[in-house]
Amino acid sequence: QRVQRVRKVKIKDPVVIGDHVIIDPGDDYTGMVREVLPRRNKISRMAAGDSRREQLLAANIDRVVPVFAVANPTPDWNMLDRMLGIAEWQDLPVSILINKMDLETGSVRDITSIYERIGYPVTYTSTETDLGKDAVSDLFGSGTSLLMGASGVGKSTLLNWLQPGLKLRTGEVSHVMGDGKHTTTHLQLVSLDGGGLVGDIPGVKEFKLWGIVPEDIPELFREFGPYIGQCKFSDCLHIHEPSCAIKEAVDAGDISDLRYQSYLRIRKSP
Ligand code: GDP
Ligand code: ZN
Repeated sequence: QRVQRVRKVKIKDPVVIGDHVIIDPGDDYTGMVREVLPRRNKISRMAAGDSRREQLLAANIDRVVPVFAVANPTPDWNMLDRMLGIAEWQDLPVSILINKMDLETGSVRDITSIYERIGYPVTYTSTETDLGKDAVSDLFGSGTSLLMGASGVGKSTLLNWLQPGLKLRTGEVSHVMGDGKHTTTHLQLVSLDGGGLVGDIPGVKEFKLWGIVPEDIPELFREFGPYIGQCKFSDCLHIHEPSCAIKEAVDAGDISDLRYQSYLRIRKSP
């Protein structure tokens, strides 16, 4: 196991998963990040406890992989909709992963089929019964995948399962936040033998949308697309207005109520 620690000096920007950097080896070859190269895309959230601050989580990502467990912890589908919103905002492909299928007692596919119907592929896994191993290896096989999931859904276990004897490469980056406070975040980027890089940001509990104005929120729900612009009022918020095409589609069962309720929650508090 090779652990790399790269220190970083005097760069305003934090270094995040997926960043391409220029490293100065230094006299003793400990390595210093000299420069963070321009980012092709950025995954950010609202900093926990500070709605005015952006927290950059990752960059140069090829695919976002929200990870949920069937149980333990109980899935928070509103959190999934926020993760999907972050990915939609960056036009990134998404693939949902449902782990701990060995704990399934019956109803998870009632929910996941809602997401499959609107075009988000879902992969079902169990590291206990080896379900879905080939499918996940294929999914991660190229580019950089970013795992997003609550603590305990099994992200670390999944990585160890895919790559026994994991040659884990980790980096501890001391972030200097805008207010000058130092916090240490443990970032993990694993390089799989079969190809592909997988990033994980342990310990992230919430995914509040950053940099999105309320008027943009409907666009983050891809199945709303055909109905946007069809409401009676051109400035319809799709909340209480009469003759709202989105609400009519919910009533007709063409948009899932679960997703619409998520829309309302995100609208209230991003
Ligand atoms: P992380 O916080 O997302 O990295 O989650 P961990 O990888 O630490 O896993 C949390 C717990 O879930 C551990 O006790 C694992 O053994 C357990 N776990 C992981 N995958 C599965 C699974 O497929 N089925 C079951 N039943 N437990 C699992
Ligand atoms: Zn409307």
